[in-house]
Amino acid sequence: MTTGTVCAICQRTEHNAALLSPCYGCGSMFHLNPYSNREGIDCGDAILGETLGVHFYCQRCLDEIDREEREAAGDSPHARAAAMVESLHAGGLPLPPPAPAEPTPPRDGAPPPAKQRGGARRRYRRVD
Ligand SMILES: [Zn+2]
Ligand SMILES: [Zn+2]
Repeated sequence: MTTGTVCAICQRTEHNAALLSPCYGCGSMFHLNPYSNREGIDCGDAILGETLGVHFYCQRCLDEIDREEREAAGDSPHARAAAMVESLHAGGLPLPPPAPAEPTPPRDGAPPPAKQRGGARRRYRRVD
């Protein structure tokens, strides 16, 4: 005798436990048709994990994953560009040497540099 389990996504009671899978993300039971050759309800999907094989995700968690991936994808170009700019400024490219100051030709009639007046004045007299 089976009591049935309510799918967390479509809220329908499923009496065939084989048609339900626990969501890897939130743990709720949801419809996941295990038969590729039979009609079934899919309220989620199976995703290949990076290391742990196949993970089952309900539709709610799939939406969440999609949103996060879209946000991450939207952010990464900026982050990559910023990182590139950062590396350039951090010495990725050699900076050109500072341009030598061009010697300014003396102008005719230009007053000579002002003498420092009072520089020659003795500040004190030696008294023996
Ligand atoms: Zn369902
Ligand atoms: Zn879930």
